[in-house]
Amino acid sequence: MPQADTKRRAELVPVSPDAKTSDGTSVFLDESELWDRDRIASAQVQSLRAVLKRAAGCGFYRERLAGLDPMDIASPADIARIPFTTKDDLRSQYPLGLLCVPRREIVRMHSSSGTTGNPVAVCHTRGDLGEWAGVMARCLYMVGVRPDDVFQNMSGYGLFTGGLGIHFGAERLGCMTIPAGPGNSRRQIKLLRDFGTTAIHVLPSYALILADHMRELGEDPKSFPLRVAVVGAEPYSEEFRLRLQNLYDMDVFNSYGLSEMSGPGVAFECPWRQGLHVWEDHFLPEIVDVATGEPVPDGEVGELVLTSLRREGMPILRYRTRDLTRFLPGDCPCGRRHRRIDRILGRADDMFIVKGVNIYPMQIERVIMTFPDVGHDYRIVLENDGLGDVLRVQIEMRDAFFEEDMRKLQSLQKTIAQRLRSEILVTPRVELVEGSSLPKTEGKAVRVVDMRRKD
Ligand code: AMP
Ligand code: ZN
Repeated sequence: MPQADTKRRAELVPVSPDAKTSDGTSVFLDESELWDRDRIASAQVQSLRAVLKRAAGCGFYRERLAGLDPMDIASPADIARIPFTTKDDLRSQYPLGLLCVPRREIVRMHSSSGTTGNPVAVCHTRGDLGEWAGVMARCLYMVGVRPDDVFQNMSGYGLFTGGLGIHFGAERLGCMTIPAGPGNSRRQIKLLRDFGTTAIHVLPSYALILADHMRELGEDPKSFPLRVAVVGAEPYSEEFRLRLQNLYDMDVFNSYGLSEMSGPGVAFECPWRQGLHVWEDHFLPEIVDVATGEPVPDGEVGELVLTSLRREGMPILRYRTRDLTRFLPGDCPCGRRHRRIDRILGRADDMFIVKGVNIYPMQIERVIMTFPDVGHDYRIVLENDGLGDVLRVQIEMRDAFFEEDMRKLQSLQKTIAQRLRSEILVTPRVELVEGSSLPKTEGKAVRVVDMRRKD
């Protein structure tokens, strides 16, 4: 079993047909990782035409695409001729209204998390599942996961796509894949030890909780042979990522996906970690102004819009993800020309307004995670005290913190409030609370609680 000091790390070797990492394996899995922009564009045009033909098999799309001939698509920019699809559209077609193939060709369905009313059902043919596992394997391979890795997946294996989606990618690569599922930290830790797990997939919020459990058991998170973690499904800041890397002494890579586009495997950080490459042979990304739907220039923040280019069962055209990010201008040093997006800055729905100022939870996380005494969790509570909006930021502290004297507490509260004020332009009430005292959720974390009256 490898020891902590011999952990293999992701290597910075740019892609080229013969480039190899030090273990003698190729640096890329799929030839499409070598494509230049022209090759990507021509593949997108071909795929988009094929998708439009397929979509004609579905009443919902037939109506929307009336008058658009697939051959009218001459360049990726022509996608603007297709109407957007929203979450409400998808819900309105629940359960099977968006199928583009006969029902008997569907072999699995998944559904997105955290919705009220009708969920969105996403259906897959056998071919779709094969493509998904392939693109997922590509992501893992890119960050140095190899067949000799033991891969422990700490995601839920139900309708949530982080379970089966990542699982089949790791299996496709040939990893010994452990479907550990979420929670149950003692068992998680035992599996990590007994099987010498080297790679994990984990929600950011759970990764920190797991480290606490290790310490409670008298184990140092660094002493495990873990060397690479795929972390995604919810937003987290770069400060959070660095914390996680140091805590476990492992490489952490950001993984982005959503059920509507199959799930994980849509965009992924490469070893250079300068944004997430969107696999443009599978997905056509656009970034648009939230209000107008018009494209924003590279480098500007807007809403990510995605089109699935390869799905048969249920292709989705120009899906408004509500996720906010920007295209990063320029080329990535890794040599892959698939465009990069910035880490997700938040969801259009997560933004809240306090005293007329627009604020995203991630702005707050970025500030508080730079304080070493700050623990793992925080919560933003919005209230109205009769005079106006009150923004309370409750921050869990490290256990040792409260053993020190109260003057330190007050001065830190003040410093954090001042730093937050310079970031968000509103002075919050900072409350430092004991570790593990904030309510925990199963699955994705809930960061904002809005208790203001809506009238
Ligand atoms: P679901 O379809 O239930 O898996 O949820 C997908 C949503 O999770 C996305 O639209 C994003 O809002 C969020 N999400 C997934 N991956 C990430 C990530 N790496 N960073 C930030 N948010 C993410
Ligand atoms: Zn790159």
